Amino acid sequence: MGAAGYALWRIMVPGLAQLHPILPQVVGIVVLVLTAALFVGIGGIVLAILGFPTIRFFYFWAWNVINLIYPIAIFLGKMMHISKGRVEQSFIEVSNHLVRRQHIKVPADKLMILTPHCLQLDTCPFKVTRDIHNCHQCGRCGVGDLLSLSQKYGVHVYIVTGGTLARQAVKKVRPKAILAVACERDLTSGIQDVFPMPVIGVLNQRPNGPCFNTCVDMARVEEEIKSFILDEENGHA
Ligand code: SF4
Repeated sequence: MGAAGYALWRIMVPGLAQLHPILPQVVGIVVLVLTAALFVGIGGIVLAILGFPTIRFFYFWAWNVINLIYPIAIFLGKMMHISKGRVEQSFIEVSNHLVRRQHIKVPADKLMILTPHCLQLDTCPFKVTRDIHNCHQCGRCGVGDLLSLSQKYGVHVYIVTGGTLARQAVKKVRPKAILAVACERDLTSGIQDVFPMPVIGVLNQRPNGPCFNTCVDMARVEEEIKSFILDEENGHA
């Protein structure tokens, strides 16, 4: 992108000089600053992936660069026959890396687990989207396990039927961090929606096809909860 910016600037130089002699330098500096910002952002992403702690400044830039290059990645992926889902998985992984590198710890009641309705068994008669405590924890789907985890650690958990309900739930709870369980598409849009709130995304499993009786690796969810919440006994991580 930097090379493309430079080439574009070179092409524009004669025209710009005709308009005003100082314009080529001004536009050149703008292109240079944008390229440097892009470089810093990509540097932040690479450092996070390599395991270096990410300072907030890098995180902010890295995030903006991810969002900038995300549509380009989708476009390039299409040309190279890489599925959109695969690019979304990369987006989620990089985003998770950036969040993890910040070592964020929040009180348990400031952590919120969000997951779509398809986690519930389709034949279950209980309405868990209004209140997950309506679940009878019969063990036939992951909703009961999520409720157990929320009771064990004191975190909030919401089962939502769409983005609007998810936003309402976030407004109501006002969490400091979110653990989202969903498919690639919902995680990608959800993470972008609530930025700069830290979100760890856990992909659901879909043995019955999309949006139907989905499940999730509960051990992974529990690990993520533990990594997010403060150690209550010591009052720190
Ligand atoms: S675990 Fe809860 S939501 Fe799932 S089938 Fe049983 S009662 Fe319904």
